[in-house]
Amino acid sequence: MTGVLPVGIADHVIDELLAICGDDGVRVDRPARVNRTRVPAPFRVHRWAEHVPDVVVLPRSTEQTAEVVRLANRERIPVVPRAAGTGLTDGATPLRHGILLDVKRMNQIRDIDLVDRTVTVGPGISMLKLNEVLRPHGVIYPDDPASYPCSMVGGRIGTGGWSLIGARYGHTRDLVMSMTVVLPTGDVVQVGEGGGRKLRKASTGFSLKQLFMGHEGTLGVVTEATLELVPRPEVEFAAFFGYPDYRTAYASTGALAKSGFATLAGVVLFDEWKLAYLRRDDEAYIEQPESLRAVVALAAYGNRDEVTPAARALMRIGRETGGDYLGDEVSQGDWAARHDRYAIPLHGRAPDGQVVPMSWHCEDAALNYSVLPQVREEWHAIVARHRERYGIFDDWGMFAYTNGAYKPWGDYLVEIDVGIWEQRLDDEAWEGWVNCKREITEVTLKYGGSISACHGASREGDVEYVPTELGGAFDVMKQIKRTLDPNNVMNPGKYLLDQAYEETP
Ligand SMILES: Cc1cc2nc3c(=O)[nH]c(=O)nc-3n(C[C@H](O)[C@H](O)[C@H](O)COP(=O)(O)OP(=O)(O)OC[C@H]3O[C@@H](n4cnc5c(N)ncnc54)[C@H](O)[C@@H]3O)c2cc1C
Repeated sequence: MTGVLPVGIADHVIDELLAICGDDGVRVDRPARVNRTRVPAPFRVHRWAEHVPDVVVLPRSTEQTAEVVRLANRERIPVVPRAAGTGLTDGATPLRHGILLDVKRMNQIRDIDLVDRTVTVGPGISMLKLNEVLRPHGVIYPDDPASYPCSMVGGRIGTGGWSLIGARYGHTRDLVMSMTVVLPTGDVVQVGEGGGRKLRKASTGFSLKQLFMGHEGTLGVVTEATLELVPRPEVEFAAFFGYPDYRTAYASTGALAKSGFATLAGVVLFDEWKLAYLRRDDEAYIEQPESLRAVVALAAYGNRDEVTPAARALMRIGRETGGDYLGDEVSQGDWAARHDRYAIPLHGRAPDGQVVPMSWHCEDAALNYSVLPQVREEWHAIVARHRERYGIFDDWGMFAYTNGAYKPWGDYLVEIDVGIWEQRLDDEAWEGWVNCKREITEVTLKYGGSISACHGASREGDVEYVPTELGGAFDVMKQIKRTLDPNNVMNPGKYLLDQAYEETP
C-alpha cells in the first residue's frame, strides 16, 4: 500500500459530485478512501491498492443518491454502496475502484408507527441505535446479528442477514416490509407488498422485495426501509448445557429445537474446537472441566407468562437428553456476550502455540440438521490439512444455529471459523486459503446445503460455485442484472454477474 493512490475520475465528475452532495459529502483524501477499502474478512494486504475507491460520497437523501447513481451510469463509473463495512464476503469492497457510496449519513428515523407497528428509517442506522430510540415505546426491531451494535439496516438488506433470535422473530428478509431503491439507472422505486406500502401481505404483482434482499449492492441502493416492530420482550431467558461428546449434544440440539415452543428464539451447538478456542483466553467463557466436549445454548424471548413455563420444559428436555446445566453465570453472561464474542482478532495461535494477530474468516453454510455431524468432520479435516501445510491458519471451531423463522424446526446456519495470519498472506498462501474455502464449499453442496446462510457468496473460493448451487436460476439472475443495470455500474465484479454482459442477449 505504498506510493500514490491516484484519483482515476475526471475533474468534471468530481465537480458534479460536489454540486450534488456538497463540500462535506465528497472525499478524495487518502484516509477517507483507504479506510473504506476493505471489510473485516481476511485480505491480501500486499494488494491493498487494487481496491481503493477513487472517491467517497456521503449522500444525505434518496434524491442525492439518485443523482449520484444517474451520473455514474452516464459516465460508466462503478458505484459500490457501503453501510458499516462489517460484511464478511467483500460485498462493500470496491473491486474496480470508482465511487464508494457511503450511506451512513442517511441515518434518520422518519416515522415510528406504534398503531400499525412499523418504523421507517434510512439505511445508515444500526440496530443498536434504532432500538435505543424505540426502547421507551415498548417495542423493538428484532434483527439481532452478532454485529448488532455496528452493522446497519442497508447492509443487513444488502447481505440478507441472519438474526441470532431469528427462530422467534424471523431474519432480515422477514422483518423488512418495504424499501425505497435507487436503481442502477438512477430511477427510484418502492418495493414491498402492495408496491411498497406498509403491508405485511398482499398479492398484487411479483414479490419484488426479496429480489433486493442479499443482492450485495449489485441491483441498486436502498435509501429507506420500513421495518417490523414487535413488543419488547418482558423476559429473555438463556440456558447453557454442557455435554461429554458431540453426538449427545447434537441429539439434544435436535430435541430442543423441535420442542415447538413459540418463545424459543435460538438454539446453538458449539463443538469441541470452538470450546477449545473459547477456553484459550476468552474470559466470557468461565472455566469449565476438560471433560466438557460440546455446549448447547438456548434462548427464549417473550412475555413472562409464556417464557416461564417454556423455560421449565426446555430445562427438562436439555437435562433429559444428557445436558449438564452450566449455571446462571455462564448462561446469562455468555448469551449477553453474543454481540462481542468475535471481536477478538488477536487470539490467533501459530502451530507452535505462539500468539499472533489473526483476522477472522468464517464459512457460513445453510444445512439440514441431518447432515451436521458428517459436515463437521469433513470441514475440520480440510482445515487441519491446510493448517499443517501453510502454518498460518488456526481452527477456531464450529457452531450450528437453528435458523427457523417462527418455526424452531428450521434448518441450520453452520459456521466454521478460521483464524488467518494476514501479514503472511502472499499470493501462494492466498491461493492455499482459497482452495481451502473451495473444498469446504464442495462439502456443503455435496450434503445438499447452500454456500451461505447470511453472509453472501461473492468472495473468491465461494463465488465460483454460485452457478452450481443455483443452476438455471443463476441465468435468471444474469438476465435481471442486465435488465436493471444495462451498463454494469452497480458493484461490478460481484457474484460473477459480469458474465451477464459477455453473453449475447
Ligand atoms: C463481529 C461480526 C459478527 C457478525 N455476525 C453476523 C450475524 O450474526 N449475522 C449476520 O447476518 N451477519 C453477521 N456478520 C456479518 C455482517 O455484519 C453482516 O453481513 C451485515 O449484514 C453487514 O452489514 P453492514 O452494514 O456492515 O454492511 P456492509 O458490509 O457495508 O455491506 C454489505 C453489503 O451490502 C451492500 N449494501 C450496503 N448498504 C447498502 C444499501 N443501502 N443498498 C444496497 N446495498 C447495500 C454492500 O454493497 C455490500 O455488498 C458479522 C460480522 C462481524 C464483523
